[in-house]
Amino acid sequence: MQQPLSASLMILAPVLIREGGINTRLNDPLKQPERQGVLLIIDTHAHLDFSDFEDDREDVVKRANDSEIKYIINVGTSIETSRFSIELAEKHAGIYASAGVHPHDSNEIDENRLSQLRQMIEHPKVVAIGEIGLDYYRNYQPVDIQKRAFELQIQLALSLDLPVIIHDRQADRDIIEMLTGLKGADWKGVFHCFPGDIDMARRVLDLGFHISFTGVITFKSFKQSALINYIPLDKLLLETDCPFMAPVPFRGKRNEPAYVQYIGQKIAEIKNLTFEEVAQVTTRNALRLFQIQGDIG
Ligand SMILES: [Zn+2]
Ligand SMILES: [Zn+2]
Repeated sequence: MQQPLSASLMILAPVLIREGGINTRLNDPLKQPERQGVLLIIDTHAHLDFSDFEDDREDVVKRANDSEIKYIINVGTSIETSRFSIELAEKHAGIYASAGVHPHDSNEIDENRLSQLRQMIEHPKVVAIGEIGLDYYRNYQPVDIQKRAFELQIQLALSLDLPVIIHDRQADRDIIEMLTGLKGADWKGVFHCFPGDIDMARRVLDLGFHISFTGVITFKSFKQSALINYIPLDKLLLETDCPFMAPVPFRGKRNEPAYVQYIGQKIAEIKNLTFEEVAQVTTRNALRLFQIQGDIG
């Protein structure tokens, strides 16, 4: 159902090459880009546990590794998927896990589950608590249940000094209110698939969070270049949120970590930077935030 990756990578233009020490842009998509050093890119938000990957999960990981996506954070959404994320991380050196309960599943948080979560977080490859937050768009759980699960998990993250991966859907005001309510908190984390405007970005950055974008920014309907320009590169992360949100030219198809490059490419275009610069800085941001020991080349 996908184009082979070799074809997809060729579409990834313009790409930086160096000629006689001068940076030029390669506009011929059939030419292979020359790169100085090896680029390492991280997909900071994938759901490879989803059944969409049941038949070819290992191929998907291999396709990512064969391109330049050396690290993937597989994000838990429930106790069960957090456990699966950890198993996946145990199998693959470049995969890390986050553990947490999504607002859609927030009714599953009780004392017993919270202690299971606490145990999982002790695993050396768990790098964050998430995804957690509030979702008033789908509203699968009552607001008070969502808020309770969010509060318990952010308290847990604070007590363990771990970053959080935040899911915010039409809940900007309540999320900011809850985070700012915890006075003196030293926040580390990311608002994933950022849904806000510049004003929201300012609040999120003021609290110390990073911001990440998915393939949505490659859609024609995305008109918020000013928002991306507003966010400093050293606060940005790249993510696929696969299997959802496939970037152009795969829009509507199943997404996978190998496509995270298209999001980096779009940010480079908007910020008038090279793809390499965006890849290097956002990877460095992610490795630092999630405390992953990596060599970014
Ligand atoms: Zn989410
Ligand atoms: Zn997600």
